[in-house]
Amino acid sequence: MAKPPIVTTLSEIRELSATVKHFRFAFDPGAGFPFKAGQFLMLHVPKETDPPVRRAYSICSPPHDAGAVEIVVKRVEGGLASNYLFGLAPQTRVTVDGPYGAFVLPSPLPKHLVFVCTGTGIAPFRGQIQTLFKTGVGAATRLTLIFGVRYEDEVLYDGEWRALAAAHPNFRFIPTISRPRHTPAPWTGEVGYVQTKLAQHAPADPDTKVFICGLWDMISAVETTCLELGYPKKHIHYERYD
Ligand SMILES: Cc1cc2nc3c(=O)[nH]c(=O)nc-3n(C[C@H](O)[C@H](O)[C@H](O)COP(=O)(O)OP(=O)(O)OC[C@H]3O[C@@H](n4cnc5c(N)ncnc54)[C@H](O)[C@@H]3O)c2cc1C
Repeated sequence: MAKPPIVTTLSEIRELSATVKHFRFAFDPGAGFPFKAGQFLMLHVPKETDPPVRRAYSICSPPHDAGAVEIVVKRVEGGLASNYLFGLAPQTRVTVDGPYGAFVLPSPLPKHLVFVCTGTGIAPFRGQIQTLFKTGVGAATRLTLIFGVRYEDEVLYDGEWRALAAAHPNFRFIPTISRPRHTPAPWTGEVGYVQTKLAQHAPADPDTKVFICGLWDMISAVETTCLELGYPKKHIHYERYD
């Protein structure tokens, strides 16, 4: 059942790549909703006559960032909600409702938590990884983020991930580029699809869990590889966008 609509103010828009933008929606004082890292909201696209169209977007900010929620959206050609968002000016009033979903951090944490995503599938993991470091994830828990994009300039929040990896020896950031252009500088990191990185960076272990987020073709390929590597199905969790 839909939750009550909440009118927010679009307080920040950041262009992250040619087709992806980051949006921050500030709640009015006393308004808003509590949520768990990894959950999603429903964005309302206003219609003059009919009820609004609602679309799901994973919240990419952590719950401790109270007073606002952030999302990261790819513009889809001809897409209703993504083009509505891309056309908005700062300070526009935007309606959302939520939170929804059970794609949340496991408790207790396993010894090794592996996050695998492509494109805007990074959204729930940004909130979750920020939450883990804010609440003081123990050094005994390893976190591995395997993030696939087509081109070098599509690695969303690249600076944030590199700063976290530099600050926390138990966090490994593995961007992998499927079609490197090698401009302006040669790409010296991983090349290829995310599922080809699992054997090396996330071998199966009884105390390792894999979280996957993005489009179904990628999720399915990652799940198949995990099963081949010996992961039990119950240690593989995913959120699909399509
Ligand atoms: C739980 C959940 C969380 C989600 N979180 C995010 C998120 O954090 N960021 C995000 O960008 N999206 C996310 N999505 C997808 C989002 O809900 C919309 O489906 C997406 O933004 C397209 O909506 P639209 O109204 O712009 O396009 P529509 O008007 O619905 O679709 C227009 C056309 O584009 C196609 N299409 C739809 N999505 C895609 C796509 N991703 N790539 C290529 N073609 C597509 C459709 O099949 C259709 O033909 C999430 C979906 C779910 C279910």
